[in-house]
Amino acid sequence: MKTILVIIDGCRTDGLQQAVTPNIDYIIENGAHTLNASTVTPSITLPVHFSIFTSLKPISHNVLTNTGSPAPSSEARSIIDVAKDFGKKTAAFYSWEHFRNLSSPGSLDHSHLIKSSSVENCDIEIAKAAADYLKFSYPDFCFVYFEGTDLAGHKAGWMSKEYLDAIEMADTALGIILEALTKPNLSGGYNIILHSDHGGVDKHHMKNSQEVMTVPWIAFGPGVKLKHRITDSVNIIDTAPTLAKLMDIPAHHTWQGRAVDEIKSIIYKENSKEKSKTQSEVTVQEGLSRREFVRKTVQWESQSELQPV
Ligand SMILES: [Zn+2]
Repeated sequence: MKTILVIIDGCRTDGLQQAVTPNIDYIIENGAHTLNASTVTPSITLPVHFSIFTSLKPISHNVLTNTGSPAPSSEARSIIDVAKDFGKKTAAFYSWEHFRNLSSPGSLDHSHLIKSSSVENCDIEIAKAAADYLKFSYPDFCFVYFEGTDLAGHKAGWMSKEYLDAIEMADTALGIILEALTKPNLSGGYNIILHSDHGGVDKHHMKNSQEVMTVPWIAFGPGVKLKHRITDSVNIIDTAPTLAKLMDIPAHHTWQGRAVDEIKSIIYKENSKEKSKTQSEVTVQEGLSRREFVRKTVQWESQSELQPV
């Protein structure tokens, strides 16, 4: 199945709880989540993103700073590279140029950079670009990066009003992605994994504290259980193996994380006795009627197309 990875840079768990985030609330309520996932040390944006994409701890992938010319170790293999190896169509939408290095040259079918300094509401512009691409190009893997929260944290402080406003902006941007997924021509049905790379405190995220090291981690879509609170420990190095499993491609042999199998819905458990409802079985309209933030019913692919794998 197809997957979308959404990263909200610097989003703290308690920030998520204090801000008004109807779209994130929606995928939490209709997906699987933990508010206690862990990030890696150093909790710096580029090293953490290399850990997210290569499923290696920074000491192993060897990208330890926000350098514009990273030299990852030979064992570092990005989920984008692995997806491309297995013939998947890949895309990335981001506002920080350093992320061009998160995959090898040639692995991305579509790469879209909007520098955050060039527009007022970058997250919204990124979401619009990604939504348009999703609606007409159907990538198998799509990375969508929202930077506004981190910018607000560094400028005004984590948990400041500006920071909480930025979380709400990221939530609105997520809503644009969710609305795109309601388009009837969007075949395949997308699973979304959304999390942040680190939290923050004061105006930085260099402290080894819970506010920095604990992040929300959410999965949502036809391959994911509904209303499930993840009990296993989750680290951001588990994201790439989980995405791979959702796309039905093997994990790379160097990856240190493991797929969060606990999130998988019954459609991926042929012969399973588990009776949990799937995203496609749920009356999504039911959820939408409770909440006004998503304007259209999420139309996942037809049940007949959702075969166990
Ligand atoms: Zn960051």
